[in-house]
Amino acid sequence: MENYLSQLNEAQLAPTLQKDGPMIVIAGAGSGKTRVLTYRIAYLMSQGVDAFNILALTFTNKAAREMKGRIADIVGDSEAKNLWMGTFHSVFAKILRFEGHHLGFPSNFTIYDTQDSQKLLGSIIKEMNLDKDIYKTKQIYSRISSYKNSLITVKAYFKNPELIEADAMARRPRMGDIYAAYVDRCFKAGAMDFDDLLLRTNELLTRFPNVLAQYQNKFRYILVDEYQDTNHSQYLIVRALADRFQNICVVGDDAQSIYAFRGANINNILNFQKDYDDVKLYRLEQNYRSTKNIVGAANSVIEHNKTKLDKVVWTANEEGEKVKVNRSLTDGDEGRYVASTIWETKMNQHLHNSDFAVLYRTNAQSRAIEDALRKRDIPYRIYGGLSFYQRKEIKDVTAYLRLILNPSDEEALKRIINYPARGIGQTTVDKLVVAANNYGKTIFEVLQQLENIDISLNNGTKNKLKDFVTLIESYQVMNQNANAFDLAEHVTKSSGLIREFNKDGTPEGITRLENVEELLNGIKDFVEGQIEIADANGSLAEFLEDVALATDLDADKGDPNHVALMTIHLAKGLEFSHVFIVGLEEDLFPSGMSMNTRSELEEERRLFYVALTRAEKQAYLTYTLSRYRWGKLIDAEPSRFIEEIDDQFVDIITPLKEQNFNPMLDASIFGDIEPNKIRFAKPKTATIKRKDKNSKLENFVISTPKKMKPLAKSEDNTNLFDHKLTVGNIVRHQRFGKGEVLKIEGKGGDAKAEIKFEVGGSKKLLLRFAKLQIL
Ligand code: ATP
Ligand code: MG
Repeated sequence: MENYLSQLNEAQLAPTLQKDGPMIVIAGAGSGKTRVLTYRIAYLMSQGVDAFNILALTFTNKAAREMKGRIADIVGDSEAKNLWMGTFHSVFAKILRFEGHHLGFPSNFTIYDTQDSQKLLGSIIKEMNLDKDIYKTKQIYSRISSYKNSLITVKAYFKNPELIEADAMARRPRMGDIYAAYVDRCFKAGAMDFDDLLLRTNELLTRFPNVLAQYQNKFRYILVDEYQDTNHSQYLIVRALADRFQNICVVGDDAQSIYAFRGANINNILNFQKDYDDVKLYRLEQNYRSTKNIVGAANSVIEHNKTKLDKVVWTANEEGEKVKVNRSLTDGDEGRYVASTIWETKMNQHLHNSDFAVLYRTNAQSRAIEDALRKRDIPYRIYGGLSFYQRKEIKDVTAYLRLILNPSDEEALKRIINYPARGIGQTTVDKLVVAANNYGKTIFEVLQQLENIDISLNNGTKNKLKDFVTLIESYQVMNQNANAFDLAEHVTKSSGLIREFNKDGTPEGITRLENVEELLNGIKDFVEGQIEIADANGSLAEFLEDVALATDLDADKGDPNHVALMTIHLAKGLEFSHVFIVGLEEDLFPSGMSMNTRSELEEERRLFYVALTRAEKQAYLTYTLSRYRWGKLIDAEPSRFIEEIDDQFVDIITPLKEQNFNPMLDASIFGDIEPNKIRFAKPKTATIKRKDKNSKLENFVISTPKKMKPLAKSEDNTNLFDHKLTVGNIVRHQRFGKGEVLKIEGKGGDAKAEIKFEVGGSKKLLLRFAKLQIL
């Protein structure tokens, strides 16, 4: 065992070496909270605590794996393996496998992912004949999710006039009924959604004192990372489990609480000292991650929040470069700035792609960055998109596996009953659902007992349904003896899935096949890898659980030398040498949807604090003057967060004196402009010389290309926007493609053309934006 304790400073040692009792470590970013948790676990083991008695809850499975790896380095692999470590969801899913039967769930219950849950809600809304534009599945889903995370069961909902009233006000009087139907259908399907994993664990621990006692006894030492982002449901689980021995250590940073919108409750950290007796409070102040400039910048921003705990963060690290702020004209320019800076910095400082991360507020912002990185051949990876396991073809295969294990799984069944096509139509499926509801049976039971069920289906259809049952049953028989890999391989071939994916021979089809192959490889790894572990048997159920809970951050496949692109929410706890925070504009970051109350704005500011503190050596902040959002070009103002940084830590590098031609000021807007003669006098006006030899320089306000207007009107600019377009012209539009001009109306800036596009039909376009190319 190496002398790992020497790698901690004194402040870090104190909580690490306190073996028993409740304790909380509150400290700023990069001060070693996660390191303390990790080393504390190793220390506990060195003091004779059995690994089986330690529970560590982390924010991502990736974090848990890294922590386990580090502990394995210290205490050895075989001991580290016995630790219970993972996210709340993965740890409690395991416990529910063992104990779910108390609540009426089979041990092989399915975990519905968001997609499954929303599909189920969609069918319920349809069956109840409700307006799907009012009852939007996504909104209903997040509403149900927030009930569950606040432990509001269906029963509690109906006893709460305020909730009922609120939903009625939101024009959703049937919300409670949908909630009830959803819970009922999940239960009948032997399925739990993500929130159930916490809700049902709470139910288990409250209703069954013996079970609670058993796990209290098992988890004598409990550690929680990122405690500031636990929700009410998670808080109660931890409190129940820790109640007996009170050996609970939580670490967190109130300034990094960024999940209030998903029910995280900052009070969990603020009230911790009230929840347990004799809580020891530790603070860490020294940041080891970042330069003085980054730490200083982050501190100066978070100062603007009123609600916060007093905290000091300082660093002995080098001064470093100042935080660089760059202004671009458009999101495309912003992408190019990011890509070229990465490219140059990499060359000049001999860095790797993986030293860089680009963080954004919303996923949609990644596209412009991706385009620019691709143009420069810089490898990148987007985290947090559709995870591998949510791809259609993968969900198709796993739906078969899910149904084999749990024939009650309604969503799996609906997905594959007619895929590949077996001539079983949607009407038939609808009838089956109705029959299942009427008879209080699962759909699969209805299928098995077709002859005894009152359902109007012709014999042909009945036979097809019977064939489907026979197929699934044959897989179930195979599952009793074969291992998960053999079964999965057999299923993909014999069900016709492989043939289906292969059918069109398109590149997409080939990719789908490759993905299925990758899935099979994964199952093989799983089967082989798990065999050594005593309490896991590499079963299909365990594999599917892993799949259901895998986040994109977990499956770190492919070349590790890539630039990481992700939302700030996902970046929590991570660190990178060079970090770009893009899209620092009002309405985007802070988000336009989070500026109504001080608390929302303060959460946005904490988010910015999280982003900035991911950087070790260099942080870049970028914003643009105009950006495409919701398909429209909109005006953008720099984010207030930039201004909130103390001047001494930032370096404004924006070169706006002379710019190359801005594609947004496309020549097609102005007719004959000589593109690279655009000069910027003031940041927001452009001096433009038109190609016409005799023309003078003209000033244009460019802050909003949409509202672009000449400052000094020249004689001939009335027809500035008319182009030379005439009816009958064949034109090309950037997005809509080729089309024919049917009609032109209006003059000058208001000139519009009606164009019939080959794809998408007729559209009326304002010429000054349309950027049409005459063919
Ligand atoms: P965050 O708030 O972002 O989650 P944290 O408080 O959990 O940060 P860590 O991730 O544990 O901080 O540590 C930040 C960085 O500093 C890591 O790279 C870690 O290895 C390093 N570090 C922490 N403590 C020390 C120390 N005593 N000596 C050297 N490096 C340290
Ligand atoms: Mg951490």
